[in-house]
Amino acid sequence: MKRSVDPQKLKSFSQNHVKFYLKYSSFVFKALKKPSFQKFICWMLKKEKIEEQIVSMVQVKVLPFRRNNGNGVAGKCNTTRGRIRIYPKTIKFCQIFKQQFGQNILFAYAGNRARAALIHELLHLKYEEDEKTVRELSREYFCIFTQKQCIKSGRSLFIYTMIFNSNQRQEISFKRLNHFTCKGKS
Ligand SMILES: [Zn+2]
Repeated sequence: MKRSVDPQKLKSFSQNHVKFYLKYSSFVFKALKKPSFQKFICWMLKKEKIEEQIVSMVQVKVLPFRRNNGNGVAGKCNTTRGRIRIYPKTIKFCQIFKQQFGQNILFAYAGNRARAALIHELLHLKYEEDEKTVRELSREYFCIFTQKQCIKSGRSLFIYTMIFNSNQRQEISFKRLNHFTCKGKS
């Protein structure tokens, strides 16, 4: 696993933004490297009978990526080359998020979003184009991991909802999220 950035692209960002994205990516890198998560990933690969060797590289990208339709991308997988890329949220998103929910929840969200993205992209190595199966299994595995972490709290439910109910859209409705109650869905 490595952190990766296109220096040419970096030039088009202001110094503040560059600083932000470098910090974000180093945080995500650490979150993915955590032994508890690495152990979980090994277990999941074994359970899915995905050979570890087919994962040739996991790149934590420093800069965000948007599709032509403007939607943000959490991760990408090149199944033929076994290469996975994990992308950050935009600085704009993070600023609004931080204002609304505070820094700690932003950190928890960013780390878990990257973990969910890695789980999702690894499953693509096996299920390839079957997006429906990949999504269902991603949710299941993510839940298994977070429950192992014993953070079955309102906060983790909130983060779960953010990750899995907003992955279609880049800009989530913060207004709606403010009305989210922790007692909500199970
Ligand atoms: Zn997918």
